[in-house]
Amino acid sequence: MAKVRNWQLGREMDYRYENGKAKRQFAAVFNINRCIACQTCTMACKSTWTFSPGQELMWWNNVETKPYGGYPQNWDLKILDLQEKANPGGQVWNATKKDTKTAPYGTFEGKTIFETANQTDQMATGYIPPEADWKSPNIYEDTATRFVKEGVSLPEHSGWFFYLQRICNHCTYPACLAACPRNAVYKREEDGIVLIDQGRCRGYRKCVEACPYKKSMYRPSTRTSEKCIGCYPRVEGTDPLTEGLPMETRCMTACIGKIRLQGLVQVGDDGLWIEDRQNPLYYLVQVAKVALPLYPQFGTQPNVYYIPPRWVPRDYLRQMFGPGVDDAIAAYENPSRETLAVLQLFRATQSIIFSYKVQQGPKTGELKIGGQTREIFDDVAIGYDSKGREIVRVAVHEPVIERQGALAFAMNTI
Ligand code: SF4
Ligand code: SF4
Ligand code: SF4
Repeated sequence: MAKVRNWQLGREMDYRYENGKAKRQFAAVFNINRCIACQTCTMACKSTWTFSPGQELMWWNNVETKPYGGYPQNWDLKILDLQEKANPGGQVWNATKKDTKTAPYGTFEGKTIFETANQTDQMATGYIPPEADWKSPNIYEDTATRFVKEGVSLPEHSGWFFYLQRICNHCTYPACLAACPRNAVYKREEDGIVLIDQGRCRGYRKCVEACPYKKSMYRPSTRTSEKCIGCYPRVEGTDPLTEGLPMETRCMTACIGKIRLQGLVQVGDDGLWIEDRQNPLYYLVQVAKVALPLYPQFGTQPNVYYIPPRWVPRDYLRQMFGPGVDDAIAAYENPSRETLAVLQLFRATQSIIFSYKVQQGPKTGELKIGGQTREIFDDVAIGYDSKGREIVRVAVHEPVIERQGALAFAMNTI
């Protein structure tokens, strides 16, 4: 076992291989607060990659309703339970042992799925879901807590649910890769995308067992495992549609709720993100700290980050996103001028935004939210592509366009 640095855990950990050495890393931020569970992302992926025989139960992108839903069913509860049994009472964070760069959320003092595994027939603690668990991808849709038994009433609803959008996290330390006895799973140096070589795979399903997010799936018709491919032709810019420009994936660009922003971040030899202040993903994750990894305690260092939902009990969120939850929600509820501008870049263009600039405008008003006064400015967020060319320009203030009298009259008479 090698020792690798996992900055999300604030410490070194055991992993089967040395640091992945990906120079650039596929990453994304999902804003849970805005998702409407329309499943357009799900269908965009399905209709592009998994519409063939044998892939019927395969949803590389899925959106599930928490706390009861899951695809496969109860995937997270089952892993959490296995980890708790392996290290009873020890799966805890020390939120005071912090460092802005190397331990931004504190230090995880429990054990990762690599550290609880026996290292002989299991490289990571996991399980293979029974077939029935894959059959209802949207079980308990829109089912809130308390509604089930006692119901809720005004003035304050205590019931809650939220939508969790999930794709493969293209982890820095993928459990699927560590577990594969055929070395069929590999991580690309150029973008950190994790792929399964279909020629090498023999369908042993060790990746299905090991992936804590259950994002590697078995295809009975080919007897191989498959997973999200990060839409790599688009990210490379080799898809004919992209005209040579790196483009965001199908599930990202289709998002109706404008909750997703995807791109590439630079990674150093020490496994830390290289400072790139004007990259919107770097800004949201490392500077504003408004977006957090999903179950970082599993230890794979996932690369999809979430802006947590404001209305959900904090204990539940801390278990899911770690101890950075309170700061992340505070940063989202009362965003800085820059954060507000960067949030406008979500789904403003299909091309990957490599850097941004905020053009400051005049103050146009004030809002009172949660007892706090927030100033509103007419700022503009400008996004640039991989070659530094401007590709998008979005105003924080939506422009109000008044119809001219003659036109209004014409419209009224139609
Ligand atoms: S989410 Fe699962 S399938 Fe994807 S890279 Fe991580 S361990 Fe592998
Ligand atoms: S990145 Fe591409 S392959 Fe992966 S879930 Fe999204 S659409 Fe599917
Ligand atoms: S398309 Fe966007 S808003 Fe709709 S379910 Fe997917 S993530 Fe949510």
